[in-house]
Amino acid sequence: MNPGKQWLLNTYLLATTPVRAVASHYRHLRGAEPVQILFYHRVADYSPNPWTISSEAFAQQIEWLQQRFDIVSLAEAQRRILSGKNSRPTVAITFDDGYADNCDFALPLLLDRELPFTYFVTSKNVANDLPFPHDVERGEPLPPNSVADIQALSDAGIEIGAHTRTHVDLATIEPRRLDDEINGSKHDLEEMSGRAVRYFAFPFGQRVNMTPESFELARDGGFAGACSAYGGYNFPGRDPFHLKRIHADPHLARFAHWLSVDVMKSLASSSEVAYVSLSHDAIRRRLAVAKGS
Ligand SMILES: [Zn+2]
Repeated sequence: MNPGKQWLLNTYLLATTPVRAVASHYRHLRGAEPVQILFYHRVADYSPNPWTISSEAFAQQIEWLQQRFDIVSLAEAQRRILSGKNSRPTVAITFDDGYADNCDFALPLLLDRELPFTYFVTSKNVANDLPFPHDVERGEPLPPNSVADIQALSDAGIEIGAHTRTHVDLATIEPRRLDDEINGSKHDLEEMSGRAVRYFAFPFGQRVNMTPESFELARDGGFAGACSAYGGYNFPGRDPFHLKRIHADPHLARFAHWLSVDVMKSLASSSEVAYVSLSHDAIRRRLAVAKGS
């Protein structure tokens, strides 16, 4: 972020702080606190790219979150959405893709602090030790996690989620390949981890990358929820199957701006249309599938 933009955002944040505080107070009273779900990709101090955050910025963000939010698992986040009432500032942490570098700093930090998180993995890249297509395109292939990493995370009680088999944009492929990518990755990761895989995250996760057919396949394949990545809030009582996530922006000012509920994002989230429906009972049954099963 350039200094001018940074200054503008800081000024805007400061000017809107009283409004945000009042809005937050009323949301608290009404039990209408959004359940926010963050996504990271890679935490590392070398080979920077738009989906990498430094270890220092990551540690700062976790510290900031711990002072302000209940940091909960994705299943608990979903339960709070399902319950229709949430009075606590709530955040769930997720990672996408499966970068080996996360094992150096980010994951040990979260495990040491006993903070829950969900790790979405592109199964074939991990199984075959192949760099991700978006890194290959940039001419900077970065190593994925190993199968042993995923097994160790799962054994440590971390929720492993599916992120397709090959990190493909699901809106661009033949419909007959969709099931293989979505439910095939669930199958791969269940074999790898020995545990149920309950959540799916769309690669790229913008509205343009998601179709009703993909949501239906995820629902029919047995997932308890499917995550997008275009930056929406989950208000309690709203669609509990489509879990909207916010990018964990490396700049603390923008990170704080989104997490203290940006009015524009909030309005956009309130008018969201559900892609597919799944009854609350069905979701609860899927959540009851223990991670250790
Ligand atoms: Zn991804």
